[in-house]
Amino acid sequence: MNYDYALLPRAVADAILAYGGSWGHLNTRFDPGEGLIVVTGYSKGQSSGRSTVQVPWLDDHYSKPVSVSPFSGYWYRADPELHVLGYQAHRRASAVTLDFFRANVKGFRSPHQTLATFVITVCEVEGQPDFAGWGVTVDGAARFSLDVVDDDPDLFLPLGEAWPREKLASPLVTVIGVGSIGSAACEALSGYAIRNLALVDPDRLKEHNFARHRANPRDIGRYKVNAVANALQERDKRLKVERYPLDVVHDADTMRPLFRRSSSILVCSDGVESRRVANHLACRAGTRVVFACVLEDGAFGEVLQVRPGVTACLFCSREQLVEKGAMDPEPSLDAGYTTGQRHLPMTAVGGDLDFVGKFAARVAVSGILESLGYLKEKLPGDQAVIGLRPPLEKAEAPFDVEHTLMVSWNSLGRPSPDCPSCGGES
Ligand SMILES: [Zn+2]
Repeated sequence: MNYDYALLPRAVADAILAYGGSWGHLNTRFDPGEGLIVVTGYSKGQSSGRSTVQVPWLDDHYSKPVSVSPFSGYWYRADPELHVLGYQAHRRASAVTLDFFRANVKGFRSPHQTLATFVITVCEVEGQPDFAGWGVTVDGAARFSLDVVDDDPDLFLPLGEAWPREKLASPLVTVIGVGSIGSAACEALSGYAIRNLALVDPDRLKEHNFARHRANPRDIGRYKVNAVANALQERDKRLKVERYPLDVVHDADTMRPLFRRSSSILVCSDGVESRRVANHLACRAGTRVVFACVLEDGAFGEVLQVRPGVTACLFCSREQLVEKGAMDPEPSLDAGYTTGQRHLPMTAVGGDLDFVGKFAARVAVSGILESLGYLKEKLPGDQAVIGLRPPLEKAEAPFDVEHTLMVSWNSLGRPSPDCPSCGGES
């Protein structure tokens, strides 16, 4: 057997510690390709029955198809000196002698004659249990790495206080459109430790989507909201996702209360109508809304944040642009940059859409953090234009980014008093 790393479920470790005896057998899965041993169960001393411990993550783990070898190893209580000398020997790529190993564990059983026997030892170091993994032969015992794995780990615990993960766990972020941009935004939101998402999209995953969508092709035919939600929740078990396979335009009655409950709304759909409706509903709900899209055949991305009561809404800001002599990019959004039909090939590439989605997610997170009192999260402006590819021809300001990855930040005007969306009382 060639193994050099082992996983011990916390529930098994705790059961071994709770049992007063000094040794027992181990049941394991062994993956030779990975050199990995996964402990699945244990026994108490001579007892021939396996002691049952429920370990949910073992059912999800990639090693699940590997059959369990019962009684394929031993666990012992040990003297702390064994762990120290075993570690020192390991650092020299060496082993402790079998005699030394035998003298420092309780209930020693002879190892297999030809193959290394897998062994776990546990001792107490500064009041805490310390587990070690070993390969034991008649020639000696070589220590190797063993980690105790929590049964319900919080993915973001290692971030500690370095990121306000606890404050970001409860705000609800609603994502409208979970296509190429939206699914990337969802991944990023989850990466920022957002734990409450609502996904809105009436579409199903079609074959042509996989050129750019983040979903796994095995999910073809499913609603995008379900495929994206499942992928995110497979990674973060504590993530809550509300799934709405609905159209923001036709299902406005469901959207209104949802928008009011949301701390931020991220609109990643590409139709003018859904952007228009989301703009209106978000403004009336008084919720910050971030619009993400790719314009001009993939030449640049735009991420625009509307702050109800502070900035103009999406459509008033477009009108203000036109008044200044610039173009209104909204109509081009209906040209169908996401279709990928033969007569209308996909113009924006997946990596760029992904980048814009992640940029938009960061804008949404900054808005939430700012509202929670993290004032240094304030962004340089409300509209970011991001150069993705050299444009065919130079556009007017604010869309005049000429270089790939050039980001131009601009401010939006004030709300228009007469606008049914951003005007009046919100
Ligand atoms: Zn307006």
